[in-house]
Order: sequence, then C-alpha cells, then structure tokens
Amino acid sequence: MRHLVWFRTDLRVADNPALYEAAADDAEVEAVYVDCPGQWQEHGKSAMQRDFLSRNLQALNEQLAGLGIPLTVLTADTFSETPDLLVRWLEGRHFDALYANREIGIDERRRDKELQRRLSIPCRVYNGDCVLDHGSLTTRSGDMYKVFTPFSKTWLAKLRAGGYRLLPVPAAQAEALSSEPLSLSGERVSSDDWPAGEADAAQRLSQFCQRSLREYGERRDYPAQDGTSSLSPYLALGVLSPNQCLSAMESELGQLPFSRGEPGFVWLNELIWREFYRHLLVAFPRLSMDRAFRPETEALQWSRDDEGFRAWCEGHTGYPIVDAAMRCLNQTGWMHNRLRMIVASFLTKDLHIDWRRGERYFMSRLIDGELAANNGGWQWAAGTGADAAPYFRVFNPTTQGERFDAEGDFLRCWLPELAEVPARVIHSPHDWLDNHSPGHGYAKPIVDHGRARLHAIAMFDALKDRE
Ligand code: FAD
Repeated sequence: MRHLVWFRTDLRVADNPALYEAAADDAEVEAVYVDCPGQWQEHGKSAMQRDFLSRNLQALNEQLAGLGIPLTVLTADTFSETPDLLVRWLEGRHFDALYANREIGIDERRRDKELQRRLSIPCRVYNGDCVLDHGSLTTRSGDMYKVFTPFSKTWLAKLRAGGYRLLPVPAAQAEALSSEPLSLSGERVSSDDWPAGEADAAQRLSQFCQRSLREYGERRDYPAQDGTSSLSPYLALGVLSPNQCLSAMESELGQLPFSRGEPGFVWLNELIWREFYRHLLVAFPRLSMDRAFRPETEALQWSRDDEGFRAWCEGHTGYPIVDAAMRCLNQTGWMHNRLRMIVASFLTKDLHIDWRRGERYFMSRLIDGELAANNGGWQWAAGTGADAAPYFRVFNPTTQGERFDAEGDFLRCWLPELAEVPARVIHSPHDWLDNHSPGHGYAKPIVDHGRARLHAIAMFDALKDRE
C-alpha cells in the first residue's frame, strides 16, 4: 500500500494521527505540503508567522527525511486552486489513499470538500488539533455549547472517562534520506527569537511544566513575569499538539488536574478555552466570515475614527499599558494574554472601533495568529461573542496597569519616554512628565476613559431599545 500524507497546520511527526494511521500496516508513506502565498495574504496573516512556518516546514522536512519519508512542497496561489493542483499532481503517482488532519476554517473546509469530490482515492481525515474532536461535545439537545462553563465541565468529564490518545512517531520506513533546504517565498519578517521544530517545542513545554505549571494560576496575569508557557506559536502551526501538553502536565503532576484548586488546573482550563473556540468555529461557520457570534450586535454603531485606530496600532494612545502592549506586539509579534484583553477592550470600548479592525491588525502582526482564538478573544472583549465579557464591565486601562504591572517594569521595557517616571505615577504619568521632563513627547490620553465607558454602555443599551 502507498499512502500520501498531506501536511497542513500539523507540522510534526509525533502525535500526528494522519501520519500515524498512514504509516500503519507497513504502508509506504510520502508527504506533501501545499503552500498558498495568495491565501496567506487574503487571510491577512503576518510575515513573521510566515517565516516561522517556513522554518518549521524545514524542520519537519528533516524529521521526515530521518524516517525515510520524502516531502514534496507544491505551490498553489490560493485554496481554490489547490484541489486542481493536487488532482493533477496525483495523476500517475499511484497512491492508495490520502491522509490529512482536519482544518477548521470555512475556506479550508470548502477546499477539502472540493478535493474529496474530485479525488478518485479515499481521503481519510483525522482530528489532530483538539484533545476532544469537534462536534463530540453537545448539550442534551444535541447543540454546541454557547457558554464556556458547561462546555468545560462536559469536556473534563469526557476526558476523565475516556482519557486521551497520544500517538508515537511512526517507525522509520527506510534509510534516512538527505533533505534539501526548504524556504517559502513571499514577505517574511525574522522569527529567529523562536526556535523552530518539534524538539524545541517539546523542550519549551517540559521546561514550562517543571518551572511554572504549579504557580501558573498566581503568575499568569503579570506581563513582566515569565509566568505563561509561550507555546502559542507552536500550537498555532501544529508543531505541538494539545495531547502533548496534557501528557507533559500529567508527567509533571503525576495525574491530570480535573478540579478547580488542583495544581495545574488553571493552565488546563486555558487549553479548554482553546478547544471551546475551535469547537465554536466548526459549529458556527459565520465566525469564519467576519460575522458576530451574537447577530443582534451587528447593529452596534462603531466609530470610524481612523486617527484613533492609528494611535492604537502604533502605541500612542497616552494610556501606558495599552501603548507598551502595542509596541511589544509590533516589535516581537507576541503579546501577553492580559494585555491582549486590555488593548482589545480599549479599542472597542474606549475608542468604540469595530472589533474586526482589531482582529485583522492582530492577525497581521502575531506570530501565533490563529483564527479561532483570535476571533474568540476579540469577540469576547467586544461583547459580541459566545460567553463574552458583560457589556457593562469595561476594563479601566489605568487600574489594569496598576494592578498587573504595579512597578511599571513591563512599561519601562517598551516606553522609553517613561524611563524616569516613578512607579507610583507611571500609569498616569502626564503631570509628572510635564513637571519634570518638558518636551517628553509622550502622547496625552486620546480619550477620557470615564466618558468613553459610558458611551460604550449606551451603544449596547441602544441595542435593547431596538428589540
Ligand atoms: P498560556 O497561558 O501558557 O496557555 C497555553 C495555551 O492555551 C496557549 O498557548 C493557547 O494555545 C491556549 N490559550 C491560552 N489562553 C487562551 C484563550 N484565552 N483563548 C484560546 N486559547 C488560549 N491565542 C492564539 O493562540 N492566537 C491568537 O491569534 C490569539 N488572539 C487573541 C486575541 C485576543 C483579543 C485575546 C484576548 C486572546 C487571544 N489569544 C490568542 C489567546 C491568548 O492570549 C494566547 O493564546 C496566549 O496569550 C498565548 O500565550 P501562552 O502560549 O503563554 O499561553
């Protein structure tokens, strides 16, 4: 038997269901990857993530070569050209079946449907991106959960009852092959701060579990601390699987933490949020199409404040925690979760700018940009999503900064204008700057938070009046 594995967002050989199943029963395996530079642009993904993708593809190529599995990289501009390209490429190559792990965005699903329609060989598709498969968790009436807590309770009960399946790397099928260097075309920004490849991802995971898993609940909200795993770039491209996260957690703790209060539970809960958003994206295709989860919020009257949007993007709003976070994103391609929540709230509830603009900007910058989590996070912050933040609870950017970066350590990394400002006033630095450092150049607050908050609440109240 000859099997072809089509790699997509699953750039790993360990715990890869499609690869594992394709290699079962001593089948001969080859691999293919289809690069779609035009689609990458259409989806607005970042040049840094593209660089990271290219480097991880190269690492995968080396891993596969070590197993004697040749990888061919094809290029189709967009997904719509991919089925045709693959069908033509397969002609005369005599594979018995195609294996792949599921991708969940609507464009990816349409592409796969079209390919399956046209293929003359069986196409076997697996769940490789979630611990529990999409659609496997439903309410009593058979629908997808719209609220996180009952989803997570069912998720935990199902995991406790059925466990998870961690698949090994398949055995080498032949002598190691020599691997040619691979590099994707298109605009790229260096991602060299992030080592590529599943060995490095696994090492990062095990270091996080040894050093920080137990204290994650206490430390995760402080951006100046190294309290979270920084695994998101690897999970987003499938260089690492969520099952591997569970396995590392289990090795460290002796067992999985199934209840609140147990060490490690808070981190497991974040992985469940990841699954919640992915299951939602599958159940509600409109989330892939720029639509709000709560349709009634489509009537919100967002502002077209381009100047405000620019100030937010560039980190010149006059709110230090927002500015430091945005400059960090622009320079590193990554942002701490607490800061993502603060800047998303600021854009939507202080500047009253449509969450879709923020979602797109994040995607264009993030090294871990990923539709389900990005869309979920933005709609949560904007109050338009499933189980979103209540609309009347608006983050105060100054008190958030005081609470989560009390000494201003994070601010000082990114805002040279505030280098000399004492910690006690660093989150409202303007009076101090005017008195001690005239000509400092740091922006005045572009909005009054108190008034902006009332306006945001009024925007949502107006929706009720329409009912
Ligand atoms: P950890 O805290 O160590 O968590 C472990 C893993 O769990 C993460 O790597 C991630 O895969 C997952 N995770 C953690 N928190 C969340 C969450 N709230 N929602 C979904 N998954 C989560 N995450 C992305 O991976 N890509 C995005 O494009 C993205 N955009 C976001 C946009 C907004 C507005 C918000 C509020 C959140 C967004 N997140 C996104 C979720 C979260 O901020 C990041 O996953 C997290 O900061 C990554 O850091 P970490 O790997 O150290 O996470």
